Amino acid sequence: MASITRSAGRAPDFDPARLANPATAKLHAYDPGHDLPVLRARFGRAIAELGSNENPLGPSPRALKAMRDALPEAFRYPDPRGSALKLALSEQLGVGTERIALGNGSHELLILLAQCFADPKHSIVYSQYGFAVFPIATAATGAQAVCVPALPRRHRSAPLGHDLVAMARAVRRNTRIVYLANPNNPTGTWFDDAALEEFLGAIPDDVLVVVDEAYHEYVEARGLTTALAFAGRFPNLIVSRTFSKAYGLAGMRVGYFVAHPGVVAVLERLRESFNVNSVALAGATAAVGDKVWLTKARAFNRAEREWLRGELLERGYRCLPSQTNFLLCALRSDAAKLERHLFDRGVIVRPMGGYGLPNCVRISIGSHEENVRLLQALP
Ligand SMILES: *Cc1c(COP(=O)(O)O)cnc(C)c1O
Repeated sequence: MASITRSAGRAPDFDPARLANPATAKLHAYDPGHDLPVLRARFGRAIAELGSNENPLGPSPRALKAMRDALPEAFRYPDPRGSALKLALSEQLGVGTERIALGNGSHELLILLAQCFADPKHSIVYSQYGFAVFPIATAATGAQAVCVPALPRRHRSAPLGHDLVAMARAVRRNTRIVYLANPNNPTGTWFDDAALEEFLGAIPDDVLVVVDEAYHEYVEARGLTTALAFAGRFPNLIVSRTFSKAYGLAGMRVGYFVAHPGVVAVLERLRESFNVNSVALAGATAAVGDKVWLTKARAFNRAEREWLRGELLERGYRCLPSQTNFLLCALRSDAAKLERHLFDRGVIVRPMGGYGLPNCVRISIGSHEENVRLLQALP
């Protein structure tokens, strides 16, 4: 009892934030934006959730069945090796299972990589307007962040996209990691295989190059296949993928890296042993086998995206070309205002002020009903 009374008495002076290590002390907690469960209760089915690039078709029916079947076994710990999923991916991708690392979402792996390989003596290179997790992974290790200016707004093929030439030049002797996203979120921009090959050729192999291909399954651009094409030649290349986007399993949290077996082995040292849960493993494994569903998701997304883009252009919104399931649209005014206007009408989009693009909103491709609702809600 005495100790409880004493600690209660001291509570006002207790400031755990001061106890955090220097890297964590500089971080801010993730801002989830709106409270979606509250909004769903308020708007019911009249809500259009176009803020998080989820697949509105949901998971494949095969994945759903596999997840249901896995539920009664959920009292067991999951397979810490994730063998079944690795085997399915190994067959799909034509790489050995020893080259695959599984994560609780690719987010986890992107952070884990920096934790395992970088420290405050190192620098980590990424692009302006690059994926938000890259600066967080960097800051969490205390490594020096080298944020390379993006391509200009008027660039022909990749406005606001990664400037690979400048990024290669930004690599110094202390650089340990380069993070690339292809296509990138939030810009939707991409670079082709030839540009990546040239980039990889210019980077020493003690610099790990991550190519985040979260939107890979949607890509149909000419000249762009996958960074995996170069895995054999560049041992420092790491390809990141996820089940959160085209596979429609964002809530399950599964992502993976394809990397040199030695890189995977290092990640395994710090990876939480049961990081991917058993229901997620079952769902993702079944999803890999359902090519028909993926083809359907891709076709649906392409058709809706091009239709929506046309409708938005007609209404005076400038949308960048996209190979993903979202559009980045530039406005003449502050995007936060538009976001609030849409929000009041149950349509959720993502304003890009946090990325340094205050005049842009990112709009995910929703179901047709959701996309129509968006157009009707525009001012
Ligand atoms: C959505 C997204 C991811 C996926 O993250 P998960 O943790 O796998 O859900 C990764 N990278 C980019 C660029 C993304 O947009």
